[in-house]
Amino acid sequence: MAGTRQVVVLGGGFGGLHLVRHLERRLRREEVDVTLVDRQNYHLFTPLLYQVCTGELPPHAVAYPLRDATAPAGFRFLQSEVASIDLAHRRVGTAEGELPYDHLVIALGSVTNDYGIPGVRENAMPVKWLADAEALKRHVLDVFESAATETDIARRREQLTFVIVGAGPVGVELASSLRDLMDHTLRRIYPTIDFYADVTIHLLDGADRVIPSMDPRLSKIAARRLEQQRVRVLLKTLVSEIGPGVVHTKDGAQLRARTIVWSGGVKVNPLVASLDLPKSKDGRVIVDDRFRASGRDDVLALGDAAYFEHQGKGLPQLAQVAVLQAPAAARNLAALVRRAPTAPFVYHRKGDLVALGRTQAAAEFAKLGGFVIGGLPAWTVWRVNYLMQLLGVRNRGTLLVEWVLSFFAGRLVANTP
Ligand SMILES: Cc1cc2nc3c(=O)[nH]c(=O)nc-3n(C[C@H](O)[C@H](O)[C@H](O)COP(=O)(O)OP(=O)(O)OC[C@H]3O[C@@H](n4cnc5c(N)ncnc54)[C@H](O)[C@@H]3O)c2cc1C
Repeated sequence: MAGTRQVVVLGGGFGGLHLVRHLERRLRREEVDVTLVDRQNYHLFTPLLYQVCTGELPPHAVAYPLRDATAPAGFRFLQSEVASIDLAHRRVGTAEGELPYDHLVIALGSVTNDYGIPGVRENAMPVKWLADAEALKRHVLDVFESAATETDIARRREQLTFVIVGAGPVGVELASSLRDLMDHTLRRIYPTIDFYADVTIHLLDGADRVIPSMDPRLSKIAARRLEQQRVRVLLKTLVSEIGPGVVHTKDGAQLRARTIVWSGGVKVNPLVASLDLPKSKDGRVIVDDRFRASGRDDVLALGDAAYFEHQGKGLPQLAQVAVLQAPAAARNLAALVRRAPTAPFVYHRKGDLVALGRTQAAAEFAKLGGFVIGGLPAWTVWRVNYLMQLLGVRNRGTLLVEWVLSFFAGRLVANTP
């Protein structure tokens, strides 16, 4: 239809998906053609990914079909790899051909950051995408199967040594949940393994406390809990190299382990880094308080890909941030389509949550003046919060059922493909 504007949204993650959902409420179908592009046909709910790694949830619980959001709104979904963005001619190159646009939304997220440390990519397992979580879970279960028949104690203990590099929220939640998997499920079914003497979990970080990005009180609760769970936390420990089955630290130590997990952080998506737009030091696209890149009305960015300055710093690369940005970005995009005035986005932090295994968590509520809780109350808040945030009746139902089953009947430990 004449006058219909073409909107292309790149990335169906927290930023892109929630923006599209809000756009539906703001624009009439005849005003705009919206195309959402992602290499996956699902949205990955990353905060629960560690539960897939440790058999608490099946993969499909954290994968929401993107077409469930686009089709009812009359929007198009294209599953394709975005290969290039031509800002001058307003077109996106995908594996399925070119997509012209009037307005582009860049929500391509970030990728695992190995900080250029040799051997990370080859010898450590990442925790970023669903395939990573499935591979890690399979690997952990394979390790237990082979350790169960290993008679040489030294070899068995090396097989059952786990090193997680990066004690941010992902590393902490994973370490804690891995111990729960062992204590509440594997111990019952691997009688030949001594879970106290044979199994070691190391959690390494260069910082001087765990989850350094959060309130120090949460770090304290987490450190106490990890100690209870016999997770060996090695702080101020910088990794210099990772070889096959060995982590080398800058102070000359070596940790031998069959399982090395890399949860060291993220960096900007290389496609975003390659764009000829003003960027922050870490490569994110600098946006103004309307999410416009370089003041352009035709290019918006949000989520991990965007550098939105708040109190002199870029907003953190968090799902929480992307979800808060999405409605404001959608409102501004609708205004730009209609050539109406835009409005600034004002960021209000909600707080932080970190899960610490069975019935334990830590929570900080920014809106209650930084009030902090731990233990069972925080765990309840954590569970309710994620149950509400997950999209789709099917996903929520699966989540609820699997949580109850995992709690009372043990985790998913059949090593299916
Ligand atoms: C394991 C893990 C746990 C996390 N836990 C939390 C948490 O508890 N709380 C929290 O607030 N944040 C958490 N985060 C951070 C959070 O996931 C990100 O901040 C958030 O996903 C950013 O949203 P986004 O839309 O910018 O990017 P994403 O959600 O990553 O979405 C980007 C999308 O772009 C697609 N894509 C990328 N490149 C291409 C391409 N070239 N072609 C086609 N498609 C492409 C991807 O498939 C993806 O769907 C976690 C991250 C990880 C990895």
